[in-house]
Amino acid sequence: MSKPIVFKFGGTSVGSPGAIEAVAKIVAAETGERVVVVSATAGTTDALVRAAEQATSGDAAAAQQTIERLSEEHRNLIADLVGVNGASALSEIVDLTDRTIALLRSVALLRECSPRSLDAILSYGERVSAPMIAALLTARGVAAEALSAEGLLITDDVFGHANPLLELTRERAEQQLVPRMRYGTVPVVTGMVGSTADGVTTTLGRGGSDYSAAVLAAALGARECRIYTDVSGVMSADPRIVADAKPLPAISYAEAAELSYFGAKVIHPRTVLPAIEAGIPVRILNTFAPDDPGTTIAATTPRDNTVVKATTSLGGLGLVTVQGAGMSGVPGFAARVFDTTAAEKISVLMISQASSENSICLVVPNDSVKRLDAALKRMFSKELARHDVEKVAIEAPVAIVSAVGEGMRGTPGVAARIFGALGRANVNVIAIAQGSSELNISLVVGEKDREAAVKAIHREFHES
Ligand code: ADP
Ligand code: ASP
Ligand code: MG
Repeated sequence: MSKPIVFKFGGTSVGSPGAIEAVAKIVAAETGERVVVVSATAGTTDALVRAAEQATSGDAAAAQQTIERLSEEHRNLIADLVGVNGASALSEIVDLTDRTIALLRSVALLRECSPRSLDAILSYGERVSAPMIAALLTARGVAAEALSAEGLLITDDVFGHANPLLELTRERAEQQLVPRMRYGTVPVVTGMVGSTADGVTTTLGRGGSDYSAAVLAAALGARECRIYTDVSGVMSADPRIVADAKPLPAISYAEAAELSYFGAKVIHPRTVLPAIEAGIPVRILNTFAPDDPGTTIAATTPRDNTVVKATTSLGGLGLVTVQGAGMSGVPGFAARVFDTTAAEKISVLMISQASSENSICLVVPNDSVKRLDAALKRMFSKELARHDVEKVAIEAPVAIVSAVGEGMRGTPGVAARIFGALGRANVNVIAIAQGSSELNISLVVGEKDREAAVKAIHREFHES
C-alpha cells in the first residue's frame, strides 16, 4: 500500500458552500489513501470562547443563543450543499448541540469554567465541521466518514494546550484510520481536538488543527502533510500587513519553527516537530488556488542568496524589566526571575539582558503582565528596599517583530540594515534579542509601531 496523504483544511476553507466544494475537488483529485483533518469554520472557535465567557458570568441564555446560532449556520450549510443526503450529519449536529448547551448550563450554574470544561466546549466547532465535510465528500463521490479525534489523537491532560502522545496515537490510528482507508473510505477527523488515554476531551490550543494534521501524518507515516489555507503558502510577511508580500517556495523546518513561533499564524508553531521527527514534508497550499505551488517545509532547503526570508510580528504582549546596579554579577539572579515566571505559570516569549547585567527584560502575554509585575516585586522586595534592584517596570502593549532566515547566519551587517530601516521609519526599538542560531533577530517595539516596523524591514530586504 502506498503511504497516505494527510490534508488539513482551515476555517476559511470550510466556511462557505463555495469553499467546501473546493475542498471536495481537492480531496477527489487524489486517488490513494487519504485522511482529511478539518478546523472549525472561521469565527466559530472565537464564538465558543465567548459562549464560555458568557456562561461563566452566569448568562446561560446568551451562551445558549451563541451555540444555537452556530448550530443553525452549520445545518444551513449542510442543507445548501447536500439537501436530504445530509440527514445523518444533521442529527449528529443536533445531538452535539444539545450536549454542549447542557455543558454551558452547568458552567453557568457554577460560574466557573475549568480548562477541562473549556476544551469540551471548544471541541464543538470541529465536531460539527467534520460531519458536514464528510457529508459533502460522500455526496461528491468520495466515500467519507466523520471521526472525532477523541480516542484517536491521544494526549496528556494539559487542558487547553495538550501534548500529543505519539505512540498511543499511532496505535489508535492503526485501529481506526488504517482499516477505513483500506476499504476506500476517507476519514474526516476533527482538528485541534484530542483526548486523554481514558477519553477525556482535550485540545491542542488555538490554531491546533495544523498540529493535529502533523501528528496524524507522523502516526501514519504519511507521504505528505498538506495544510490548505486562504493564502498561497508562507509569505515573506503577513499579507494583511504587507500587500506585496510574496509566497516562499521552500523553507526549512527550523525557519518554519521560528516564523510560526514569532507570529506567522499561517502555521501552528508545533506543527513542524512531529513532521521533522518522521521526515514528512509539510506543504502549505491555497484551497482557493490549489494549483499555486505553495510552500514546502522540509529538513533543508536549497541555499539561495536571500538573507531575511520573512518578517513576522506578534502583538498583545507586555515587557517587564527588572533593573538595578546591585544585581551585576550576583549569581542566581536570573534564576530567581525565572523561578517567578515558572511559579506563576507565565510563558516567556523573549528575554533580553544588557551586558552590564543591569537589567533583564521579559516579554510575556499582555494579560499576564500585571501578575508578573506583582510577583517580581514580591520576589525582590528586600532588594527593592535596599535599592539593589531599582525598579520593576512594565511597558505595554508591545509587539515582537522578527526577521527570520537561515541566510542571516554568518552574514555580517544584517542587524545594521534592520536598525537602519527602522530608524528611517521612525520606529523606536525597546529591546533586542538574537538567538545563537542566528536564524532570527527579534525586536520589541510599541504595539503602535508594529505594522510600520514590519513594513520597513520587508522593504529593506524584499523590495529593493
Ligand atoms: P486557517 O484558518 O486556514 O488555519 P489562519 O488564519 O490560521 O488560517 O492562517 C492563515 C492566515 O495567516 C493568512 O490569511 C494570513 O493573513 C496570516 N499570515 C500571517 N503571517 C503570514 C505569513 N508570513 N504568510 C502567510 N500568511 C500569514
Ligand atoms: N479552530 C481552532 C482555532 O480557531 C483550530 C484551528 O483552526 O486550527 O484556533
Ligand atoms: Mg490556523
